[in-house]
Amino acid sequence: MSKKVLIIDDVEGVRESLKLILSDYYNLIITEDAGQGLNCVENDQDIGLVLLDIKMPGYNGLEVLQKIKNVSPELPVIIVTGYKSVETATEAVRLGASGYIVKPFKAEEILDVVKKKMK
Ligand SMILES: [Mg+2]
Repeated sequence: MSKKVLIIDDVEGVRESLKLILSDYYNLIITEDAGQGLNCVENDQDIGLVLLDIKMPGYNGLEVLQKIKNVSPELPVIIVTGYKSVETATEAVRLGASGYIVKPFKAEEILDVVKKKMK
């Protein structure tokens, strides 16, 4: 295992699914709090990719994305979004996200995107 995947999502079920899918292959940092996630990006040099929920209470996902990109411009961020927020996700790609995944996602989609985009 090399770099870590940072997962930021307010829904426990989503965090658990991502953990199940990824934990055999990657070291994970999992948080429900975007502020804490940002803190990790600022302090942990070993993060190689971020899976970022676009809708979290108290946070605008696009702002969180921009803050991550400000701190670490090369760090790939994949947006995890509900189908109702796909427009926001395409906006996120315009703002520097490396791609997005629509919930409910399949394990292969997640593994594929992490493998391809991991820095
Ligand atoms: Mg959410």
